[in-house]
Amino acid sequence: MTKQDAQTAPEPDGKSAQIKAVETRSVSCDGGGGVSGHPRVFLEMGDGPHVDCPYCSCRYLYEVEGA
Ligand SMILES: [Zn+2]
Repeated sequence: MTKQDAQTAPEPDGKSAQIKAVETRSVSCDGGGGVSGHPRVFLEMGDGPHVDCPYCSCRYLYEVEGA
């Protein structure tokens, strides 16, 4: 649909991290549930531009729309 979809395409081997843009520096991740899910964890970016989930290696990118 959009070119952003290519970034979030899951890899079967799980080695390639997904990238998700979020609008808050505090995020929670549960791996999306299902077979690739994991216990929900809360992640803080602190001063950084992104944070990686230690379970599924998802990368959450801090991105403010209309700022
Ligand atoms: Zn995760």
